[in-house]
Amino acid sequence: TEKLPQIPHNLSIPQFFLDYQNNEQLVTNGQPAQGIDPGIPWLIEHRSGRRIGLEEIRSRTFGLANAMSIQYNIGLNDVVLLFSRNNVDYPIAIWAVHRLGGIVSGANPDFVSNELLYQLQATSAKLIIVHPEALETAVTVARSTGFPLERIVVFDVESTATPKGFTSVSDLVKVGLEKPPNFVEPVIDARTKLAFLSFSSGTTGKPKAVAIPHFSLIINVIQMVVHWKVFQEYAPWDERRFRPGDVAIGVLPLYHIYGLVLNLHFILYSRITLVLVEKFNFVDMLETIGRYRISHLMLVPPHVVLFCKQAEILKDYFLSSVRFIMVGGAPLSNEVNEQIFGIFPEAHIGQSYGMTELCTSVTAYPITQKRGTAGSAGVLEPGVRARILKQDGTFGGYDEPGELCISGPSNSLGYYNNEQATKETFVDGWVHTGDEAKIDRNLEVWILDRIKEIMKVRGFQVAPAELEGCLLDHPDVGDACVVGIPDEYSGEIPLAFVVLKEDASQRAERSLEDSAKIKASIEKHVSDNKVYYKRLAGGVEFVPSIPKNPSGKLLRRLLREKARELRIKP
Ligand code: AMP
Repeated sequence: TEKLPQIPHNLSIPQFFLDYQNNEQLVTNGQPAQGIDPGIPWLIEHRSGRRIGLEEIRSRTFGLANAMSIQYNIGLNDVVLLFSRNNVDYPIAIWAVHRLGGIVSGANPDFVSNELLYQLQATSAKLIIVHPEALETAVTVARSTGFPLERIVVFDVESTATPKGFTSVSDLVKVGLEKPPNFVEPVIDARTKLAFLSFSSGTTGKPKAVAIPHFSLIINVIQMVVHWKVFQEYAPWDERRFRPGDVAIGVLPLYHIYGLVLNLHFILYSRITLVLVEKFNFVDMLETIGRYRISHLMLVPPHVVLFCKQAEILKDYFLSSVRFIMVGGAPLSNEVNEQIFGIFPEAHIGQSYGMTELCTSVTAYPITQKRGTAGSAGVLEPGVRARILKQDGTFGGYDEPGELCISGPSNSLGYYNNEQATKETFVDGWVHTGDEAKIDRNLEVWILDRIKEIMKVRGFQVAPAELEGCLLDHPDVGDACVVGIPDEYSGEIPLAFVVLKEDASQRAERSLEDSAKIKASIEKHVSDNKVYYKRLAGGVEFVPSIPKNPSGKLLRRLLREKARELRIKP
């Protein structure tokens, strides 16, 4: 693959993205890195129409950082939790925390209180910046743990007044800009200095904080820039995948690594304006594409399914500006892949494969293909090495299936404060992805199956261990095992196998109605205690016992097969 340019190791993310524009020293593919174009609006907020360019971003970032330093004493390695939907101040909050040497951890604003609590405790965050819609959950968690309410700051969202008694991000920016600087940006080694704690379950167990240093994000953006010849005139203007004046839509949430690295930082570095969308809605997205003449879409497979399933409404919208679609985060079926080619006959369309632990993308469809090969995750990006580990412990050759292991410059450092889990997944510089794959002679990577436990529901990770823990809190449940079953829209949905306690089992045997009542109560228990996409949309099945091996490990594969049989039969 192509060579990567030398990137200095002492730059933080905001130093690299906000301060080093037009820096002749950073060379990508023989050309100076263009950095950010100060002349264009960088970010547009879909909800309010607010547009901000580089200078305003830099000054807001400074103001917010200064105020966080003055009022909350945020400094080196302090964690700030962002509990919010996308908005223009979200990236500013990230860069402000980084300027102080702090670490950002993003949480899904739809989380219920126990999920937020888990992340707050795992990261020991000192400050929460929250979307007004998620404020109630944040306050509930703060009250239950003694987290000071003064340490909750609210994002300003158009048409909602800042809730009484709370400070908003704009209040802080104002204070920070009025006061003299109270901080100096720390000197860092970007390869080891943590920038993010992003949550992933990895190959087993509950969600864990992945330790992501500044360099991982910076180099992953550069890998994509080189892979896709973003700044090169490699083809006639009409055929180029990226061009000045392009506009991308930001529907992927910034609390997830895919949104954070590719939809935000890669897009901005490629001099593309980003329209940030607060909450995904398909019809809104179609309307936004027309309104802003969106050229670039970064999507997860469920978005693509909507284009295919609702093809009849597409003619009512202006979509001809779309020239590029990238799909990642979960498997895309060949059928849907072919259909989306038909809907956008002129666009560049293909997949990318990534993982939080890899700080993000390690394969993507090459620049030489306008259309990625249907079903393929693309080819390895520059600087990435891959191995296929076969079941017998040896390495596979071309076309042989096995576990995909990756060693690349963007690999994260491991799991934060979790040596055991780190040792199991990060082995001698290689991340064991838990995905079954093969690599063909064209060097295309095919993701065949998932060996690891996690499910991907609408592009979000769902950890069976987390749902099993939740199920065991239900008074009727003696034992449980959760598996994913295929679903056309969500990709997968969770189904629970449950062993009832003795008295509940007797009740269930009395009548179908009693049994249905218990199932409904178990489903409700999960819906009440977990974010919407973790609910047991695949249902509950009662079983006499959960198959385990002699050492007590769940034999999940057996139940996965059983679930598929059950759901295929009417
Ligand atoms: P996350 O850390 O949430 O991004 O999840 C990473 C996991 O998503 C991977 O280990 C894969 O199981 C899955 N995944 C990501 N991209 C793809 C893809 N293009 N095809 C199939 N699975 C994918």
